[in-house]
Amino acid sequence: MPPAIVLFTQDLRVHDHPALTAAVGDRDAVLPLFVVDPAITGRAARNRCAYLSEALTDLRAALRGRGGDLLVREGDTVDRVCALARETGADTVFLTAGVGRFAARREHRLREAVPAVHALPGLTVVPPGAVTPTGGDHYKVFTPYSRAWADRERRSVLPAPEKVRLPAVDPGALPGDLAERGVGALAPDRLAGGERAARARLRAWLEGGLSRYDRTRDDLPGAATSHLSADLRFGCLSPLETVEAAEASGAGQGAEEFVRQLAWRDFHHQVAAAFPGLAVRDYRPRDRVWHGDPEALDAWRRGRTGVPVVDAGMRQLLREGFMHNRARMITAAFLTRTLHVHWKEGADHFHAHLVDGDIADNYGNWQWVAGTGNDTRPNRPFNPLRQARRFDPEGAYVRRYVPELAGLPGRRALTPWREERLPDGYPPPIADPGR
Ligand SMILES: Cc1cc2nc3c(=O)[nH]c(=O)nc-3n(C[C@H](O)[C@H](O)[C@H](O)COP(=O)(O)OP(=O)(O)OC[C@H]3O[C@@H](n4cnc5c(N)ncnc54)[C@H](O)[C@@H]3O)c2cc1C
Repeated sequence: MPPAIVLFTQDLRVHDHPALTAAVGDRDAVLPLFVVDPAITGRAARNRCAYLSEALTDLRAALRGRGGDLLVREGDTVDRVCALARETGADTVFLTAGVGRFAARREHRLREAVPAVHALPGLTVVPPGAVTPTGGDHYKVFTPYSRAWADRERRSVLPAPEKVRLPAVDPGALPGDLAERGVGALAPDRLAGGERAARARLRAWLEGGLSRYDRTRDDLPGAATSHLSADLRFGCLSPLETVEAAEASGAGQGAEEFVRQLAWRDFHHQVAAAFPGLAVRDYRPRDRVWHGDPEALDAWRRGRTGVPVVDAGMRQLLREGFMHNRARMITAAFLTRTLHVHWKEGADHFHAHLVDGDIADNYGNWQWVAGTGNDTRPNRPFNPLRQARRFDPEGAYVRRYVPELAGLPGRRALTPWREERLPDGYPPPIADPGR
């Protein structure tokens, strides 16, 4: 039987990988392949390129440890798949089904070029489109979705294949430091990428913070969330395995709340699958009036708005390629509701820096905050100062990321404009942050 190609994309793992397991079970030899496609790396955040480099090194080691290898090619994905198929006689491609425009086009072109393509689940816990409301192609509101999501029967979590047999073929070199490509700046304090690091983080999380998560997830200085988003974004962790591990952990309400967040991730993916324009068009047009304000936008991007909790979030993004969820909501609401700058400006900036930056989650959440997305209360008030008092009551988060305010004790760091003199180098607020 000819070998089959396993095309890796956003699923850079060997555990619970339905496409890899199916190919290994079906064929004597398989060709695990990753294509460094300039159409993706040219536009991706430098931080994501860096994570990708590490994940590929790790995946190659995991496959070599099983007798196989990761073949690496560079160029247009479909062209490279076809070239490898010609070179080796492979007649079938196995891959994990994706969502979004790019994935749809890739799959369509592959189907035209290769005799057989098998797109298998693995990107989400419940595949997009697997649960639908009566009379609709996707859920527009989270609560009914989450009920259907919870009731849906799941496939079994798969072990990593023990052996991967590879025909004689040039593996190709890993692409070197991909972080030299891409857009945005490289964050000095990023987390290390790859399946091994991801699994270690998951283990530590299950034994550590998970049981308190329901009480601590909004605590800004505590940073008491899983930090697994980039691992899930690159598929170094299977979302299904993550959910099942949390459910089996005995962590009670902490685990319940954590699983709920993974349902949110699936929710946004099924929205993106049904509404591929999510990154460019209002999901629900609401006649919002936006202001083009380049100076305010620049201050927001650099963390120099003069509103400490906003600046702390924006600087965390630049320093870590990550931002606490509560800070993402505060900074996004400040840009779209206080400054009335278009959500796309903010989402694009996030996308240029987040290691976990993902079209479905980033643009879906931005539209949610801006009131053009799936929020059932699009005009809910969101006051950054009140948020700061509630979730950073002693100003510890603000002082951690805004060193100019380090000398202001306690919650005085949240309102420096009320001091007799603004701390050196810190600007006055560019807009009224509320009371
Ligand atoms: C404006 C804005 C932009 C965002 N952009 C992204 C993005 O590009 N990529 C991304 O993964 N998340 C995004 N989120 C969601 C959320 O902020 C991050 O997933 C979370 O902060 C990551 O930290 P964590 O892994 O410690 O999360 P935890 O609190 O530990 O949550 C566990 C996992 O659940 C998922 N999750 C949690 N909240 C959400 C949510 N609201 N929507 C979708 N999935 C969620 C993530 O995969 C996360 O890793 C965004 C939220 C906002 C408000």
